[in-house]
Amino acid sequence: MERFCVAGDFVEACPYGSGHINDTYAVTMDQAGRTVRYILQRINHRVFPDPPRLMENIHRICRELGAGLRRDGEERSSRRALTVVCTREGAPVHQDDQGGFWRVYYFIEGALGYDVVENHRQAFEAARAFGEFQRLLADLPGPRLHETIPGFHDTPRRLERFRQVFAEAPRPRREAVRVEAEFFLSRHDEASRLVSLQRQGLLPERVTHNDTKLNNVLIDQETHQAVCVIDLDTVMPGLVPYDFGDLVRTSTTRAVEDERDLEKVRFDREFFLALARGYLSSAGAFLTPLEREHLVFGGFLMTYEVGVRFLTDYLEGNVYFKTAYDEHNLVRARTQIALASQIEAVRGELEEELAQIDRA
Ligand code: ATP
Ligand code: MG
Ligand code: MG
Repeated sequence: MERFCVAGDFVEACPYGSGHINDTYAVTMDQAGRTVRYILQRINHRVFPDPPRLMENIHRICRELGAGLRRDGEERSSRRALTVVCTREGAPVHQDDQGGFWRVYYFIEGALGYDVVENHRQAFEAARAFGEFQRLLADLPGPRLHETIPGFHDTPRRLERFRQVFAEAPRPRREAVRVEAEFFLSRHDEASRLVSLQRQGLLPERVTHNDTKLNNVLIDQETHQAVCVIDLDTVMPGLVPYDFGDLVRTSTTRAVEDERDLEKVRFDREFFLALARGYLSSAGAFLTPLEREHLVFGGFLMTYEVGVRFLTDYLEGNVYFKTAYDEHNLVRARTQIALASQIEAVRGELEEELAQIDRA
């Protein structure tokens, strides 16, 4: 911590939270008898190849969010957006002698992230927070943000990669996933819908979060309102339906991503409506009609895309996602197929309901 502009005496550092990507510590400092906490993270260099560029993005984003909140009249804006603490040299990231990259944020006290959605209120609040996040970054000045993971949501490219891996997989493995493969391959037109609308200039590129899970929003323990969107590593240029879609994927079922009993993977329409209401309450004003029309489709597409990635990884021998047993990624692909099929089956109805909220 002595590398960073942090005052006081070091007390302790403890591993913190349930993130899967970075190493996260809560660091306590004694500042003239007052204890103050910080979040210290080692950035996962394997997933994010260029941490200095990534931190250039995050630093810009945090400053823009803070300025936007103050413009909105927020008094305690430092709790409503992450604040990057720079090194003594003024950089947003420190590289250690072993090549590790470290960053520090103010600790947001009195708020927690939840791993699995428990009630409608949480779904509403999380979606409202991500909508507000997009709204505040809609006019980010300056150059385009760096793509921290190039081609992250290029669904047709993901599908193409799957097609190759499937064709080259050993026969027994290929046979084992024939039904799942058929599900993905037969929907290739759907896979390219959003990117082709983008290419035609019909869907605008915006600043999106790209990891809109419930636990990436801190919720106040007393008021139960969303306080702050965190985990900004994947913030980059993207399409609005990706963010709303990943919320739908992760917050419309109480089943875990690797649930083996597919009966339990139930799409919950009430959770969906809570997400839609929360999201439109903050993002409704800036969305174009075509963006709104593709929100439900985004839910289908993100679930489909993650399913494709799980199945690809299974065929490749589980090289990307951490697994506890050999079929883990196949199990995960199946939960995504189960959810995507349910969304697909009621897509028209959900679109009508969402349009009603718009007019409310
Ligand atoms: P993921 O697996 O979601 O990608 P990650 O490894 O990228 O996670 P983060 O989400 O950035 O890590 O942080 C891990 C956890 O630390 C969060 O879920 C949250 O509980 C906590 N956390 C992160 N930043 C803060 C902060 N500024 N104040 C308080 N808690 C925080
Ligand atoms: Mg996280
Ligand atoms: Mg993360």
